[in-house]
Amino acid sequence: MFEALTDSFRSTINKIRFADDEKALKKALDNLKKSLLKADVHHKVVRELLKSVELDTKREGIGKESFLKALKKNLTDILTAPGHYGFVFASKPPTVVMMAGLQGSGKTTTTVKLAYYLKLRKKKVLVAACDLQRLAAVEQLKQLCEQNDIDLFYDEEEKDPLKVAKKALEKAKSGLYDVLIVDTAGRLAIDEELMDELVKMKEVLNPHEIFYVADSMTGQDAVRSAATFNEKLKITGVILSKYDGDSKGGIAISIAKQIGIPLRFIGIGEKVPDLEVFVPDRIVSRLMGEGDIEGLAEKTSAVIDEKKVKHITKKIKKGSFNFNDFLDQLESMKKLGSLKSLVGMIPGLSKVAGSLKDIDLENSKEIKRIKAMIYSMTPKERENPSLLNNSRKRRIAKGAGLSQMEVNRFLKQFQNAAKMAKKFSGKKGMQDLQNLLSRQNNLPFGR
Ligand code: GDP
Repeated sequence: MFEALTDSFRSTINKIRFADDEKALKKALDNLKKSLLKADVHHKVVRELLKSVELDTKREGIGKESFLKALKKNLTDILTAPGHYGFVFASKPPTVVMMAGLQGSGKTTTTVKLAYYLKLRKKKVLVAACDLQRLAAVEQLKQLCEQNDIDLFYDEEEKDPLKVAKKALEKAKSGLYDVLIVDTAGRLAIDEELMDELVKMKEVLNPHEIFYVADSMTGQDAVRSAATFNEKLKITGVILSKYDGDSKGGIAISIAKQIGIPLRFIGIGEKVPDLEVFVPDRIVSRLMGEGDIEGLAEKTSAVIDEKKVKHITKKIKKGSFNFNDFLDQLESMKKLGSLKSLVGMIPGLSKVAGSLKDIDLENSKEIKRIKAMIYSMTPKERENPSLLNNSRKRRIAKGAGLSQMEVNRFLKQFQNAAKMAKKFSGKKGMQDLQNLLSRQNNLPFGR
């Protein structure tokens, strides 16, 4: 995701040494220019960034530290358009969000991702299916919402999206929802009819936010279409989808600057949990390969229940962590989304993340096998791994369609992991985790 840019930033910074001369600075700036242009950052944005970095570095005295500081500051400035960050709630609920974007940009998926993000943070969310242009859009929303236990408003009898929107708004109000997210029509290209519908939709909904979903794979085209939507609709935020793909990454750097609207979230995968709040200084930290501990804590604290953490830690310490706890932990992990992106948020590990193959917690062969084994156990066995003698192991292997050797190997791994966890679950480890969680739980998410 960020690896290519992070690598080129690192190599640029390494071109300068302490108390270096102008020649070295020029070399570093040339290098920076090349990598930014290659990453698809708009040339005007590049020019402006380089100029400010040069001036700031010279003012402080040329050296690695001053260059790094100048680069960080100016990148943050460029990413910071006036407006809000993360999700902002209206003073009086429901907060109404209208989603806009071209067909195929990821608008429908992002609508559900956003609903899921809010639901994990204990908000009552209603999604409204008002994209009646694309035939499959309502069906797609139905499926995604059902799978993720999200309330959806749709009306298959009604052909007028404005009427559906009106009814959805009424339901959001009467049902005391915190947030209403409305999926609207998209087209393959911008046209008058589409814009008319969206402008009317805006009048009906009077939304607090209009989020434009831009496909980061389409590079500068995404910026141009976002600008057109902004002219007609006055969007309040951009969500960059498909940032995990082959996009060159630079689009995140220039979009806020070019349109003057803040990036609010980025989509980093096809799955519903793969959405991240976009906070400029945190993203810059990641671009610099310094990780993003705040972001990591924000993400995990929404998923991990503090009470459960205490309970599990106690069990680990007592050595009574069992297979049900294991399944439970696996479910929590799934809510965190891509593990690769989590690793990238740990300081010093961005490089490692780049070379990691992402683990698919639902579909990986290994995890499917482990689950099959656990599901072949009796409830008592799941609670108490020490019950597993040879005949029980044989039965489990048969039930899961595996060899007994495979079952033995898994059980051994499980025992070792439980032992390790017990060793590291001393008072200090638990204290650190609890402090981190309680700090994060008192913070509003986003900014
Ligand atoms: P819509 O026409 O704008 O509603 O687009 P969809 O929501 O149907 O998305 C189009 C395709 O993009 C689907 O296959 C999605 O799974 C995929 N998609 C959406 N967001 C992301 C993302 O952040 N990363 C990846 N890799 N794929 C995405």
